[in-house]
Amino acid sequence: MSKKFHAVTIFPGMLQTYLGFGILKRAIQGNLLSVDIHNLRDYATDKHKTVDDYPYGGGAGMVMKPDPFFRIVDSLWPAKEKRKVIMLSPRGRLFNQDAAYELSQENRDIIFFCGRYEAIDQRVSDYLVDEEYSIGDYILTGGELPTLVIIDAVARLIPGVLGDFNSTEEESFSWGLLDYPHYTRPEHYHGMSVPGVLLSGNHSEITRWRKKQAIKATLENRPDLLQKYALSAKDKELLKEIKEDSNELDRSN
Ligand code: SAM
Repeated sequence: MSKKFHAVTIFPGMLQTYLGFGILKRAIQGNLLSVDIHNLRDYATDKHKTVDDYPYGGGAGMVMKPDPFFRIVDSLWPAKEKRKVIMLSPRGRLFNQDAAYELSQENRDIIFFCGRYEAIDQRVSDYLVDEEYSIGDYILTGGELPTLVIIDAVARLIPGVLGDFNSTEEESFSWGLLDYPHYTRPEHYHGMSVPGVLLSGNHSEITRWRKKQAIKATLENRPDLLQKYALSAKDKELLKEIKEDSNELDRSN
């Protein structure tokens, strides 16, 4: 069964453009997923197709009116049990790889509400929305990029979307550590060489080197992840080596 996404936006072209390239384009053509893009303005009732209005209580910025959202849901997805409505909002749960896995397992149609202006009227969230997601602690101009981020991350986890499904297993976050460095030809480039171990053909040494590099990157860039990671006895040895290497480097500088 293919995965069904819907996006409700006032800028359909933004989403269409991104979905027309690369792996997502192929996945859509191959019916592994579908993304229907709906223009919220089509569900506004006045002749100017207005979707926003002034905020009660005053303050800067406009607020998206509730009515077009209620009308689109009533007309396209009336059965509550068949839909999961996600609103993009900096106030939402932080989207991460675990959330991507959860959504990849979801059997209901997933509907994204892309906000614009200051916010969407709270009653939309209270009555129609199942979950709010933020993609990070910063403010964007709209929910279109966050929607694409989520669709992209979830689509990669759908079997068949990536040529080799195993390629998601050792990626950053999937195994609790950040990714190790990757190299391709040429072996020497601008005076920089590929680490010898990767040319050795010794698979256990390569695995060990990659694990060490993954632990090192995680220690340096995301120590919070390393704290949650269950280090095996071998991993602890690697961590000790990493710390010794860095002490040596400090002494030689
Ligand atoms: N007034 C809002 C606040 O302070 O939380 C920010 C509104 S923002 C300018 C307009 C829309 O962009 C939001 O309704 C939301 O749909 C989207 N948006 C902006 N930043 C986002 C983020 N980090 N994650 C998810 N959606 C975001």
